[in-house]
Amino acid sequence: MKINYLLTLLAFVTACQAPADKKEEHTHSHHPPNIILLVGDGMGVAQLSSLYYFKNEEIHMDRFDVTGLSKTSSAKQKITDSGASGTALSSGTKTYNGAIGVDIDTSNVKNIVELLSEQDYTTGIISTSSITHATPASFFAHSASRNDEDFIASQLHESQIDFFTGGGLKHFNKRKDQRNYIDSLTQHGFEIDTTQLSPSLAQIEGKKLGFLLEDGALPKKIDGRGDFLPNATALAAEFLNQKKAPFFLMVEGSQIDWGGHENNHDYLVGEMIDFDNAIGKALDFAQEHKNTIVIVTADHETGGYALRSGENSEGNTDYDKVAPSFSTHGHTAAIVPVLAFGPQAKSFTGIYENTEIFNKLINLTQ
Ligand code: MG
Ligand code: ZN
Repeated sequence: MKINYLLTLLAFVTACQAPADKKEEHTHSHHPPNIILLVGDGMGVAQLSSLYYFKNEEIHMDRFDVTGLSKTSSAKQKITDSGASGTALSSGTKTYNGAIGVDIDTSNVKNIVELLSEQDYTTGIISTSSITHATPASFFAHSASRNDEDFIASQLHESQIDFFTGGGLKHFNKRKDQRNYIDSLTQHGFEIDTTQLSPSLAQIEGKKLGFLLEDGALPKKIDGRGDFLPNATALAAEFLNQKKAPFFLMVEGSQIDWGGHENNHDYLVGEMIDFDNAIGKALDFAQEHKNTIVIVTADHETGGYALRSGENSEGNTDYDKVAPSFSTHGHTAAIVPVLAFGPQAKSFTGIYENTEIFNKLINLTQ
């Protein structure tokens, strides 16, 4: 009797839920969102906090209303590198430090660019490092070692990427094997510029776009990189949005990590301010184009960066002074921030593994 009642109740509940689920599915399949994923390499909570003390203009991070935290350990190590964490973000797979788009057995794993291009997404990647460096590479390449950047470069023209910009030109045209992969990119429909971000090229119909602006990394922000990162973010979003399908764009603030490795506070803060301005461009786009979700996260923290108290003239602790310091030249095991804005941003609340960011992003498109 009691069991019958429960079964009836269960059937009733299931019947009530079914239409709601269907409706949601229906909405998603017709309007999968644009996704802009911004990765601050080495950006922990203290790096984020530095904006409040060292940025004198609008802080765009404040425009987010949904926050979460991500655990970054790799499959083999408690402290990850950017290869393993890039692969976790791009492919939802925990792997070993140094891996790019492969699992612990060095088998290729499908990345979000490959998966979403099957759903007619257009895709782009931006970095201030070489485009073949660990983080951006995780979104288009598969390599047992992050160090084989010539091999990683040789995979870009056959990937599903429609827009890319960063450094790393030498891995395409000054290679150990003498091959020229700029020619390969051109043959695969890319318009390539190695001198500047040229918005006029974005007007050419039916082309893919690539800007490779340095042999290696782009200059530091404090050494005169200018507004490359915010400008590239705005240009990529406009370019990818011209196509009918939704788009996926990954933007990396690559050198926050390098400021941390160098224990160089001015370097770090210059990169943080620049990254925040790129986030501002992504949010501007998302406010204008409502079906766009913007996610900001980090692959790990670098430097054990802390905003400790300074000292007054007598050498005593002064809580009115912020004196940034570092506790290591390497990465740390700290959890890192996740910020979300746009449709279904709330699914990014909580504390979870970095692989969940990939799962949540894929869920948005189903
Ligand atoms: Mg990186
Ligand atoms: Zn690093």
